[in-house]
Amino acid sequence: MTRNSPKAQYLGAMAKLNSQELLDQHVAALLRCRRCARMKSTPVSGGAIVSDIMIIGQAPGPREPVLQRPFAHTAGKTLFRWFEEFCAINEATARAKIYFAAVCQCFPGKNSSGTDRVPAPDEIRNCSSWMDDEIQILQPRLIIPVGRLAMTQFIACKKLQEVIGRKFRVARAGHRFDVIPLPHPSGASPWHKISPGKELTQCALKLIAHHPAVAALCDPRQ
Ligand code: SF4
Repeated sequence: MTRNSPKAQYLGAMAKLNSQELLDQHVAALLRCRRCARMKSTPVSGGAIVSDIMIIGQAPGPREPVLQRPFAHTAGKTLFRWFEEFCAINEATARAKIYFAAVCQCFPGKNSSGTDRVPAPDEIRNCSSWMDDEIQILQPRLIIPVGRLAMTQFIACKKLQEVIGRKFRVARAGHRFDVIPLPHPSGASPWHKISPGKELTQCALKLIAHHPAVAALCDPRQ
């Protein structure tokens, strides 16, 4: 049975239907989560998008809970520009066809220097079960962690230049998938704008563009 045979397409459609019900329930439960007392918002979700691809950020900023979608502000502008430029996927398509998750799904608030607080280990632990459930339901072929905290949920990362521009095979939550990390596009760090970060980021985006799961997004039969 080939991937595009009628039977494979039927079985794929049935699996998607089941995944959609599970994911609908998952997102509804996630939005009710209040495990972390120090978080400054309720959870932000990109919606129950059944997809072979997950994009995983660090945590929402202050704008995302108001606008009620992940990557809604500055970092999102750069991220979606990258996808449009290298993968020919615009923001609307990315939001409609890719599942957006985060290491922590609530806004952690600001730290004393006025920047967004990095989630604490206990908060990351609390939220990791949501991510595990998402991986079990979606069984993604590709996970794109954005930023160092997201990467380190899957791979070791001492230096960005050692991991950006590479593809990794990773197992988590009983499932194996490819991981292609991206640097954080927030602008807080200029790493992705200057050499070698600029070239390595382009290399990572080309790897993403050529990944079969991304190519399938542009297939009208999907
Ligand atoms: S960060 Fe995650 S675990 Fe903590 S309250 Fe938000 S959704 Fe729940």
